[in-house]
Amino acid sequence: MSGHATRDHAILSASGSSRWLTCTPSAQLEEQYENTTSVFAEEGTTAHELAEDFLRKELGLIAKGTFTRRLNKMKKENEHYSQSMLDYVENYATIVLEHISELKQYSSDVLTLLEERLDFSRWVPQGFGTGDVVLVADQTLEVIDLKYGKGVPVSAEGNTQMRLYALGALNQFEMLYDIENVRMTIVQPRLDSVSTDEIAASDLLDWADEVVQPKAHEAIEGEGNFVAGEHCRFCKARSQCRARAEKNLELAQHDFQEPPLLSYEEIGEILPKADELQKWAKDVQNYALDQAEKHGAKFPGYKLVEGRSNRKYTDEAAVIKRLKDEGYSEEDIYDMKVNGITKMEKAIGKKPFKEYLSEYVIKPAGKPTLVKESDKRPEINSTDSAVEDFS
Ligand code: SF4
Repeated sequence: MSGHATRDHAILSASGSSRWLTCTPSAQLEEQYENTTSVFAEEGTTAHELAEDFLRKELGLIAKGTFTRRLNKMKKENEHYSQSMLDYVENYATIVLEHISELKQYSSDVLTLLEERLDFSRWVPQGFGTGDVVLVADQTLEVIDLKYGKGVPVSAEGNTQMRLYALGALNQFEMLYDIENVRMTIVQPRLDSVSTDEIAASDLLDWADEVVQPKAHEAIEGEGNFVAGEHCRFCKARSQCRARAEKNLELAQHDFQEPPLLSYEEIGEILPKADELQKWAKDVQNYALDQAEKHGAKFPGYKLVEGRSNRKYTDEAAVIKRLKDEGYSEEDIYDMKVNGITKMEKAIGKKPFKEYLSEYVIKPAGKPTLVKESDKRPEINSTDSAVEDFS
């Protein structure tokens, strides 16, 4: 399978563009941190490899036998592979094929490229990325990105990473095709989410010239102001960054007036700050622990101790044997439980799970959660549910 894990590193990456377009000196500041990988990133790499091969098979670019051989190799050698991953990848591929068919309705020829290197260095020094799928048709260009993660929902709307990929593709094909419209789609199969944004090619080029190019110039030079915000979330400097600390400490200050109890209005002003404060505080705590544990760092007023732990068996088989020998029943010894839904789906695959078990699965109403008004979930009427609870 291809080199998804070895994609090169650019200082001004497309994936980090929401940061360096807003906080221009962040890209150079991040350079002093090591590149780390996580189990989620490795899992994403496997999913991308599988998706690429699956699509190549569906598009007739590789033989079915070749796909099966590669799949079997992955099953044997890659710990991140699972049946549910194949199911999710299949869902993603179905969406890609639908988008290709849709474009074919208006265009006699649709150029389909997988894992295409997209060069946007015309606007961003060393700027390049890899487009999972690039479709070029008469008048329309589309870039599709698979996001395998399920932790953070990612929308294509105004997404700067997608726009930079699209710019790379536009730069490559604008001479050969008459492209007027650019579409950018993000598929997040594990969240059952597909989002698409559209922009006129001329507007995209204006954005590149007027916003991206000057910001990229500042960013590569490490110039401009540090600006903290939601984009700090994946910044490598997020735990130590002074600008972020100052912004959060500022957030924590609030001019409270008399009377002694806060009004709903005042609490409403604190709530949006609380999310950001919590994230920042957690980042600082994790960083301090990591430094103390791995590098012996000392923080005034704090020390490293052993956390609380629970007792555990050294040899489960020996425990079972001894208790059986002593005449205890299996009920006393075992606590047998059916697999949870996610584990079961992973074990038997999404399709069989749906076929055999969907009638036994319900989704109970979730615990009420206070979220921002922009959240897509419908509002529940708390007074109604309180009356219901009461009756
Ligand atoms: S943490 Fe935020 S403010 Fe600080 S460098 Fe990173 S992006 Fe900029």
